[in-house]
Amino acid sequence: MTPTREALIAAFAEAGHELWLAGGFVRDEFRGVPAKDRGDADYATSALPDETERIGRALGATVATIGQRFGTTGVLLQEGMAEITTFRGDSYTAGSRWPDVTFGSSIDEDLARRDFTVNAIARNTATGELRDPFAGRDDIERRLLRAPGDPRMRFAEDPLRILRGVRFVSQLGFTIEEETKAAMVATVELLETLSQERVTAEIERLLCGKHPAEGLEALREIGALPHILPEFVAMPGCDQNRFHKFDVWGHTTATVEAIATDPESLSLRRWAALLHDLGKPPVRHVKKNGEWGFYRHEIVGAEMTDALAERLRLGKRESALLSLLVRRHMDRPDPDDGRLVRRFMRRLDGHWRDLLALKRADNASHAYDDNEYHDRLEAACERVEAEEAAMLRAESPLDGRELMALLDREPGPWIARIKERLSTLVLDGELAPGDKEEAARIARRMGGTAALLADTEDGS
Ligand code: ATP
Ligand code: MG
Repeated sequence: MTPTREALIAAFAEAGHELWLAGGFVRDEFRGVPAKDRGDADYATSALPDETERIGRALGATVATIGQRFGTTGVLLQEGMAEITTFRGDSYTAGSRWPDVTFGSSIDEDLARRDFTVNAIARNTATGELRDPFAGRDDIERRLLRAPGDPRMRFAEDPLRILRGVRFVSQLGFTIEEETKAAMVATVELLETLSQERVTAEIERLLCGKHPAEGLEALREIGALPHILPEFVAMPGCDQNRFHKFDVWGHTTATVEAIATDPESLSLRRWAALLHDLGKPPVRHVKKNGEWGFYRHEIVGAEMTDALAERLRLGKRESALLSLLVRRHMDRPDPDDGRLVRRFMRRLDGHWRDLLALKRADNASHAYDDNEYHDRLEAACERVEAEEAAMLRAESPLDGRELMALLDREPGPWIARIKERLSTLVLDGELAPGDKEEAARIARRMGGTAALLADTEDGS
């Protein structure tokens, strides 16, 4: 039986161990996020990992070691996964099988080693006591990200905290406190020591946050672009022409922010918006009329996208799609020309809605308004899709009653035969779905053929 949170709390108290709720769960409580919308609950405990495991198993819970290095144990509760980490500290526990972790002896020692003050608040699960040694609640109130203690040391200790901070800018809409930001700037080249997987995971979280433009801008401000996204270094200050309100960087972040998404398309569309103008800085040239031109930037951008996706180790399928969306983002078929609309849709391999979302967002930060065109293109694509669906349903344009009236005949198996013939013609694209007039012509012709006379021989 999967135990409840209450049972877990009681078992730790029984065993004489402290168990504190901490991290994002407590932070989000003070931000007013309802419990069901907060992430997994993070706990800190005085129990060593072996002891946590023993307590979990004694309760009959499924138990897993999540972070061997950090001594984090996952215990599955009815309320969801509890991630329980032994107090971190500066003292090395000899003989431990977690050689990289140093276990601490108190919750305050643990909180002092956390990334940001807003994440360094803890609530004792047995007594309800609240520990907030770095006034994290004030920082939540002011919406500030501040590293506890000496920020430079904190980032030098673990440079991933720099990216976590920028990710929280996007997820929470908080601002990085000045001294903390200065420390990020001072330690930013340490980002190169992180594994690509961890960097990519943080960029992904940043992109999928509620305030991605602010997150990206923070990334630029602290000087992280050359270290983790060098492809973007040439964008800030790369001016465009009179059709644009921003430089290429400002336009890019505005597009990421503007793109319409649903939970399923969120990641793909935000990435596509981020990458769509990658090719602009390298192709920029002066046109005859003296303005900046970006001829073929979508082609160069798609090639750069391939290389970037490989470097970041994005999935194969996602990389191919991103490259396709970048390559096609300047496509502009005439919505009144059915052939061009169908070709446009086929090139996009089922992703025309993603491309339209990109085109609309791209346009949102232009100085001119192209909504009308996009509405017409969308309507044209919807029409093609509806026609195609009707074709696949392959319904006979005429039903039995209509056929009897048309040919003035009694009901019989002949109806099924004509309907089958008509629906096959629809499926083959030789008869438009719902074209009753042409269907009637065909039915009349069939009505006079020998095949149908077979009905009378059947005796029906
Ligand atoms: P989320 O809402 O994404 O779960 P979170 O703040 O809970 O955000 P987790 O990755 O779940 O983030 O980590 C839980 C807590 O552990 C953090 O709030 C923070 O206190 C601490 N923590 C995580 N990673 C680090 C790190 N690299 N350095 C210091 N403390 C960290
Ligand atoms: Mg968490």
